Amino acid sequence: MVTTVPFIDLTATAAEIWTAVESKFKKSLLKAEFVAGAAIPSFEERWAEYCGARYAVGVASGTDALELTLTALGIGRGDEVVVPATTFVATAAAVVRVGAVPRFADVDANTLLITANTLAAAATSRTRAVIVVHLYGQPADMTTIMAKAHELGIFLVEDAAQAHGAEWQGQRAGSFGIAGCFSFYPSKNLGAFGEAGAVVTSDLELAERIRQLANHGRATGTHYEHVLLGWNGRLDNLQALVLEAGLDLLDGWTERRIALACQYSRRLEGAPGIRLVGSNTAARHVYHLMVVRVPQRDLVRRMLREWNIETGIHYPVPCHKQPPLASFAAEPLPASEDAAAEVLSLPLYPHLTPRQVDYVCDRVVAISAFRSA
Ligand SMILES: *Cc1c(COP(=O)(O)O)cnc(C)c1O
Repeated sequence: MVTTVPFIDLTATAAEIWTAVESKFKKSLLKAEFVAGAAIPSFEERWAEYCGARYAVGVASGTDALELTLTALGIGRGDEVVVPATTFVATAAAVVRVGAVPRFADVDANTLLITANTLAAAATSRTRAVIVVHLYGQPADMTTIMAKAHELGIFLVEDAAQAHGAEWQGQRAGSFGIAGCFSFYPSKNLGAFGEAGAVVTSDLELAERIRQLANHGRATGTHYEHVLLGWNGRLDNLQALVLEAGLDLLDGWTERRIALACQYSRRLEGAPGIRLVGSNTAARHVYHLMVVRVPQRDLVRRMLREWNIETGIHYPVPCHKQPPLASFAAEPLPASEDAAAEVLSLPLYPHLTPRQVDYVCDRVVAISAFRSA
């Protein structure tokens, strides 16, 4: 029997959500409740509570969550925002799109996370905020980063798009900074049936400003009174229904991710030619991705494909080397550049089986042992 291991397979999680949401989804659809509806505040309330924040504002995507937050904080022309170089491009693009300048911070060579020291090295007197990315599902060291942000007198925004339910010293990702930005893109740990996102915050005024900006700048409760220049960045009712159903399933899925990631780590730890991404014991890592580091990564990847094992790369080019962002790069960022050449994301999703993980580990170990001999 030929085993194939896709990099990601969302069919089982989608089916679980559908079973739970089908009748409500149909009702909302037949009432033509496509955009506004009761599921939105209902999901927002539950998401805020889940994250340990006072308020949540459902928005159209994780990208909008970031842009709305920066805009609502009044960040724009003449301002600088520190972002890690190792992240998805949207983190840095949001800064440029609001008219500000990204200052790229390097990451820790072991955890690939931004640190208080790399933040301090990237900040200048024009820096107004830092966007901390909880990369691959692992929270950054929020104790030292919060202290540094406080000392610098800058806003701390969390890009928690990969970190639903992750914790630092028992506190949920998204609840540390002035705002936490989430994506519910289908492949994220909690995914919609399309595009969706949310911002969580405990600042009522900020929550209201984000809500207005995401709704064409309308004054609350009005239709043609535009008090801010906003755009259409709303979460819609059908996605909110899907997310509420998914939220009931999220903790179970996360437990499975963690168990499978532990299996990977046990099998791959210390294997010749393979390096694990470091994890911190104060963190609850929710394993959005299972990332290892291998030399000659592209060759390893091709060999795994021969065995019907699909892998990913997160990310092959660090943000400060992407053409539209390269002009903002101040100096070399060696940890981010080294990581980009070596990172390899192995298959991981809640319904992957322990047998499939064993199959992947057997092949990864064999290929790496052969290559490092
Ligand atoms: C997915 C992701 C985003 C963007 O979210 P979308 O919902 O796709 O717009 C931003 N930052 C990080 C770190 C992400 O992983």
